[in-house]
Amino acid sequence: MSFDVVVIGGGLAGLSAANRAAELGLSAVVLEQGDAVDYPCNSRFAGGIVHVAQKDMRGEPAEIQAAIDALTGEASGTADKDATDLSPIMSEEADRALTWMRDQGAKFIKGGVLEFMRWVLAPPRPRRPGLEWKGRGPDVFLRKMTANLESRGGKLERGVRARSLIVEDGLVCGVVVERNGAEERIEGRAVVIADGGFQANPELVRQHISPKPDGLFTRGAGNGCGDGLRMAVDAGANVVGMNRFYGHLLGREVFNNEMLWPYPTVDAIATVSVVVDEAGQRLFDEGQGGVYMANNVAALDNPLSTAVVFDDKVWTGLAADNRYPPCMNPAFVNEGGTVYAADSLGELAGMIGVDAAGLAKTVADYNAAVESKSMDKLDPPRATDKFRPRAILAAPYHAIQLCAGMTYTMGGVAIDRDSRVLRDGGAAIEGLYAAGSSTGGIEGGPHAAYIGGLSKAVVTGMRAAEHIAKS
Ligand SMILES: Cc1cc2nc3c(=O)[nH]c(=O)nc-3n(C[C@H](O)[C@H](O)[C@H](O)COP(=O)(O)OP(=O)(O)OC[C@H]3O[C@@H](n4cnc5c(N)ncnc54)[C@H](O)[C@@H]3O)c2cc1C
Repeated sequence: MSFDVVVIGGGLAGLSAANRAAELGLSAVVLEQGDAVDYPCNSRFAGGIVHVAQKDMRGEPAEIQAAIDALTGEASGTADKDATDLSPIMSEEADRALTWMRDQGAKFIKGGVLEFMRWVLAPPRPRRPGLEWKGRGPDVFLRKMTANLESRGGKLERGVRARSLIVEDGLVCGVVVERNGAEERIEGRAVVIADGGFQANPELVRQHISPKPDGLFTRGAGNGCGDGLRMAVDAGANVVGMNRFYGHLLGREVFNNEMLWPYPTVDAIATVSVVVDEAGQRLFDEGQGGVYMANNVAALDNPLSTAVVFDDKVWTGLAADNRYPPCMNPAFVNEGGTVYAADSLGELAGMIGVDAAGLAKTVADYNAAVESKSMDKLDPPRATDKFRPRAILAAPYHAIQLCAGMTYTMGGVAIDRDSRVLRDGGAAIEGLYAAGSSTGGIEGGPHAAYIGGLSKAVVTGMRAAEHIAKS
């Protein structure tokens, strides 16, 4: 078989690349390892909120860029952006990506009052705990994209796992795949890697993200095995930002209770409270947000050793605020999650196996810093610009034992703004592209900046196809 474009992976990135290529007159095939019609992938399981850096996709590029810069911090943020900075493709292409999705038949609703919920793929998932994807916006849109591809003469081949790249004279010109246990060659003028990351590869996770991959919960389809990354590296690709992932803090009972993922997450509570280890000590800056905290919990020697401690005002106030659906109170408890409660911090510490004296000191120091507005003096310091810390004063005191839920890896194959895969030193590998969660360099960094997985998939997929068509 021979095509203009061979795409590895049938998630949103792969289907965006293939559809855009087909629109531009190229023959395209998507190779997908799943064999069911509704094969699992993160794109299908997604909440369907399409945003860039939590901004409206129709927003001013300069405002979106400022939001990206604020999230990424020193990783970005210079007025004079050099060509290796990928963030401008997200700010400048957000509007076009949304329009293109609508042209492909995507239907959107406004999902809530918060700006980042302006464009939610319809029909939206219900505001309930647990994974509900069938017939919801992302699932409907993936089916639509598959139908679009076929109507444009392209193909989605299911049950086909890409194993290695075919490289001739330094030019990538196809993929060796496994289908029904046998090897096949599929040739292409260009190959787009869109296999969704390496979160389901324990060895790579151990190498880059956590000393104990078993202590992380897979908050997604769990089928990004890093095949594309390995193939790209074998062809000479550079990798970037490998130590970060997009994910959230979840209640630790999620390992035995499927109603506790992907929602509700414990992020909103943790960002206003303290997260402590078994010694009762804070470990990192809770004010950096849930994705940052999940990354830091994952990186601990024991990722199953933390708990969030908060007071009753948080539990009955913010935790019950339905702008962050589904909110923890009461959904988490209704589904069997445990929120420990005690009239004293000492008793609470005993319930969750935390050193009582350590917890008492941590809470006293933290409360004093909230009172005197000196959170920056805490060790570790606590940022206050994004989330206002709340003193832990009102009994009963509460705690939830935590784990890190990993959705997709933010690092991966180095690309340029046209999604061309780059070697160390910056030269492009001829004929090789990457898109979506298999790429690195847009998200992550010191603050574990999450820019938006769906928008990244569409923008990088579209741009890969456009560059292939041009060349
Ligand atoms: C519960 C949940 C909620 C989310 N909510 C949002 C949200 O609201 N907004 C947002 O922006 N993002 C959200 N995301 C993230 C978003 O879904 C992803 O970032 C995005 O869908 C990634 O798309 P992708 O095409 O790169 O990867 P994927 O959708 O993971 O697709 C990769 C595909 O490649 C296939 N594959 C892997 N290896 C091979 C191989 N060797 N050969 C062939 N096929 C292979 C896989 O089977 C898979 O189908 C969410 C994710 C989850 C799980």
